Amino acid sequence: MKYLPEFDKQTGEALAKELHRQQTTLEMIPSENFVSMAVLEALGSVATNKYAEGYPGKRYYGGCEHIDTIEQLAIDRAKKLFGADHVNVQPLSGAPANIAVYFALLEPGDTILGMDLSHGGHLTHGHPVTHMAKIFNFVRYKANIETGKIDFDQLREMAIEHKPKLILAGYSAYPRDLDYKAFQKIADEVGAMTMADVAHLAGMIAAGELNNPVPIFDVVTTTTHKTLRGPRGGMIMCKKKHAKKIDKSIFPGLQGGPHENVIAAKAVAFKEALQPDFKEYAKQIKTNAKALAENLLKHDFKLITGGTDNHLLLIDVTNKNVSGHQAEQALDAAGITVNKNMIPDDPRSPLDPSGIRLGTPALTTRGMHESEMKTIGNWINEAIDNHDNSVVLEHIKSEIAELTKKFPLYNEL
Ligand SMILES: *Cc1c(COP(=O)(O)O)cnc(C)c1O
Repeated sequence: MKYLPEFDKQTGEALAKELHRQQTTLEMIPSENFVSMAVLEALGSVATNKYAEGYPGKRYYGGCEHIDTIEQLAIDRAKKLFGADHVNVQPLSGAPANIAVYFALLEPGDTILGMDLSHGGHLTHGHPVTHMAKIFNFVRYKANIETGKIDFDQLREMAIEHKPKLILAGYSAYPRDLDYKAFQKIADEVGAMTMADVAHLAGMIAAGELNNPVPIFDVVTTTTHKTLRGPRGGMIMCKKKHAKKIDKSIFPGLQGGPHENVIAAKAVAFKEALQPDFKEYAKQIKTNAKALAENLLKHDFKLITGGTDNHLLLIDVTNKNVSGHQAEQALDAAGITVNKNMIPDDPRSPLDPSGIRLGTPALTTRGMHESEMKTIGNWINEAIDNHDNSVVLEHIKSEIAELTKKFPLYNEL
């Protein structure tokens, strides 16, 4: 940074410290990642100055010719990545993307069948604390409590009973792949539309490492900043027949001017995701998650569903005599960033649940492989065993700072 620290010392210092934190700790929050320098450049570009309400070729402002080029690039690349009929790259984030879909396809009071939050569903899928829960009637299916996997028999029974207009698949704490055809079959049976929210999975779907709902479902929403490794933002993909409604729902229905600097960064990230090495990346995310799972199982950690097919692990830490919050804090002190998380039918509260959730996308971006996962699993075990021993936690933190030096991040900054 050249200009900012001079003009604004406080913000500059905090940003410098944040960079240092990202460089020297292990980022294991499964929804986080490190974008490339090219994506950062697009984010910090002059495209932030431009108002461009409307869509490419149909804007409400003059001077949009170059912005149109940028937005069209993002759209075309996303179509290619996911095999989508229609793409809207304007959603400001994952939450507004979901809200826009509900209002595009449904009337207030309509029923949506989505996954229970404690079973891995997302807040934006109708949690009682959200505004959407006041507008639409959300009913919730669950995963099988024994296996942790989606119980399609129960889902079908609920669909027949509640006659939802929309069936929602897609989670933020579910460590398995999804059988989208099975959802679609049930939806067809009861005359419901289908929506997948692949916020966590998009990068791995784009790389062909997880099942792709886009050719099957009516609508698919995603964030662009998780495994897709782009800027913080959202995106909606849909079948041709829903295209007009989806676009109108984003603008003018919900949003104003699109953030074209972010859309430029999306275009760059999608180009990156189309390269052959992105496929290698997505594959390694999975290999690393499996290696970490294997190590943690050896240390007697209880993994929900017994393992992982994707990039994340959900761990019930009750048998380790800590709460999710205590585990998160101990790992934080040791230089490992994770988040506490509810486990299915968690008897504890969301602020101090029974589990933690961790993932490998960011570490894999740094270039780490199976051998590092093994070391990290050992550290996680040691930190949780010694959650009240600050000497041990400090020691792990210094070892982690050493390890991270071998996997440089943002040396250019
Ligand atoms: C992260 C996430 C979202 C929300 O995305 P934001 O960009 O934080 O608004 C929505 N759905 C799922 C499944 C997610 O994991």
